[in-house]
Amino acid sequence: MPELRTLLAGQQPNPMFRIAARVHGRDDILHLEFGEPDFATPPHVVEAGLRSLRDERQGYGPGNGIGALRAAIAERVRRVNRFAPAADQVIASAGGTGGLMAALLCLCQRDDEVLVPDPAWAGYDAMLAAAGARMVRYPLQPARGWQPDLEAVEAAISPRSRVLLLNSPSNPGGAVFSRETIERLVALARRHDLWVLSDECYDEFVFEGEHVSPACFDEDGRVVTVGTCSKAYAMTGWRAGWVVAPERLAGSVTLAVSAAINNLPLFVQRAAVAALTGPQQCVREMAAAYRERRDLAVGLLRERGALQYLPQGAFYLLAALSGDAEPGVDSVAFAEALIAEWGIAIAPGVAFGPATARYARVSLASAPEELRVGISGMLDFAATWRQRAAT
Ligand code: PLP
Repeated sequence: MPELRTLLAGQQPNPMFRIAARVHGRDDILHLEFGEPDFATPPHVVEAGLRSLRDERQGYGPGNGIGALRAAIAERVRRVNRFAPAADQVIASAGGTGGLMAALLCLCQRDDEVLVPDPAWAGYDAMLAAAGARMVRYPLQPARGWQPDLEAVEAAISPRSRVLLLNSPSNPGGAVFSRETIERLVALARRHDLWVLSDECYDEFVFEGEHVSPACFDEDGRVVTVGTCSKAYAMTGWRAGWVVAPERLAGSVTLAVSAAINNLPLFVQRAAVAALTGPQQCVREMAAAYRERRDLAVGLLRERGALQYLPQGAFYLLAALSGDAEPGVDSVAFAEALIAEWGIAIAPGVAFGPATARYARVSLASAPEELRVGISGMLDFAATWRQRAAT
């Protein structure tokens, strides 16, 4: 038998994905574990996909996406992200995931360091492992609503650092970085000659402040921006996303996307064009609903004295499972017991990094009644759990 010698051979699945896979599709479980919008994909988007399936041959296409989709993405980036890429800087990818992976493959060599927030989205672990890169964490500050501390970011930089990964609005903290913070982070990357990989998958969901794209401050072609239809248009399963890369990088990113998937299915691309160029009222309605759910969740935590900060964007909330002075909680064991005993699924904080090891992350993409029952249940169970640990 040949040996398992790939970069991923020793990689353990992140516990969030492990737990989510275990409860997938179970309707006896209250689902707050994943960023899965409970809204349906808007009908005009579904119709565009169906029309393509009916009327067009579903053949191969260009690796970076059909011209109509790249133009629609470029226009959307002008509208939402406030910078103006040329159409050939745009590459359609299999969701934000496919875009991030393709970008990392182009930006890193083996053992290069990628600066990743602590806490950060659970998906980065396996991507960095697949790219052969090393994750170096920079802390976000819980007392400041999970904002970065610029000095701590700088302190994490070493001669092997290649990429500064930014994610605002952020998962899991829900921080929205200010214009000044973003400008200073890009300047920092310039000073240390780093690439900036900006994951902007939640850019339509900002409840306080404004969304600012690092690319707005890109003076010399070092910022790579990744976006997606998944969250804004409730299209997680369609797998439609994009990369906007500096011109010198765009060809490599296209090769990386093509090497993995050749191209996105044509009907998915047509649906994405309809999403990005069609009426945007659906996005505003979903954003308003997420804001209401955020307020509901925040109110529930406040009533119980468990509120620590106000998420400013995205649709997640971190809840501490034990106080600073109390013994730490094993968030994976907690999440597993909460599923087994109370039928509630959340994401264990340790999935996002050491900083949130004693937290639970609740996704606010579920219906308000589920949030009410799920969050109250989780807090009750946490109290029981602490008592059990103390005896
Ligand atoms: N980036 C962040 C921060 C996310 O939270 C997610 C999904 O939850 C993604 C990227 C991937 O999204 P997509 O469905 O577009 O691959």
